[in-house]
Amino acid sequence: MPEPIMLKGAEAAKALRRELKAEFAQHAERVGEIGMRIVQMGDDPAAAGYTRSIVRTFKRVGLEAIVVELPVAIPAPDLEDELTSLNQDTAVHGVVVPTPYPAQIPEDLVSGTLSPAKDVDCITPTRLGALFAGSSTFAPATAAAVMRLLDHYQIPIEGKSAVVLGRSNTVGKPLAMLLLQRHATVTLLHSRTEDLEAETRRAEILAVAMGRPNFVGYKHVGSRVVVVDVGTNYVGDELIGDVDYDSVMPSTAAITPVPGGVGPLTNTILASNLAQLLREAGAG
Ligand code: NAP
Repeated sequence: MPEPIMLKGAEAAKALRRELKAEFAQHAERVGEIGMRIVQMGDDPAAAGYTRSIVRTFKRVGLEAIVVELPVAIPAPDLEDELTSLNQDTAVHGVVVPTPYPAQIPEDLVSGTLSPAKDVDCITPTRLGALFAGSSTFAPATAAAVMRLLDHYQIPIEGKSAVVLGRSNTVGKPLAMLLLQRHATVTLLHSRTEDLEAETRRAEILAVAMGRPNFVGYKHVGSRVVVVDVGTNYVGDELIGDVDYDSVMPSTAAITPVPGGVGPLTNTILASNLAQLLREAGAG
């Protein structure tokens, strides 16, 4: 049996960054300085860590992502004003608001206020609607990163049985839509699925985004499956995926390590989404 292919996000990201650097240089000739803003409320460790990694990634494609720091206790109407002013600012081309949001901010305030023209992470109903209607491949960064990773390693998708475990609006659902657009036969699983193992064992491509460390084991997979583990769970200081790598790996044709799989590619996809927004603005 051949060794499984390691699906490494860093390798796929490197190739994409080269393309993006050249493209951003072209956009800059047209629009001047490219304005990317990260709206950070307070210092929640997950949101702050995400902010730092976005800043680092954008630097590697030649862009300065500016952090707009807001107090953690910002009232919802003030955040709405802040986002409205970023929407109107012609020097700003893309905006990301890392989650989790502070408790006083309604879940849909950011997605309802941000202009779809500046929605780098595809959270607005307009952008998601286009994705679900099948008229766009612009997608939330993590879902798009999974597709990019599969494409980078030339994993066939069309006609395959693709099983997505997890149905969040940010990962599972958009990933299911992207796989469907590429003509996979898609099954979307969740916590109410009966006989999860029977469903996952049918997968030729199994993408797992559930937030349960090491949940998926050898009993969940058939043979020669392609496994993409989106899970990022911190157990103490250790980053652990949703897939029990050692137990599953022998049954796979290809598998993502965690860390080192989807994660390193996600923020580069954000930059790729910003490039898409600039392309759309240039065409409009
Ligand atoms: P989420 O919103 O909590 O959704 C988890 C999904 O998994 C839900 O649909 C849930 O089903 C399902 N689920 C949970 N336990 C289950 C079980 N025992 N059996 C079957 N289904 C179960 O999580 P998320 O935001 O999609 O994130 C998922 C994971 O991806 C997390 O580890 C997160 O940290 C990681 N993540 C990674 C990246 C990256 O760049 N690598 C980016 C984003 C997220 P119900 O809908 O029925 O509750």
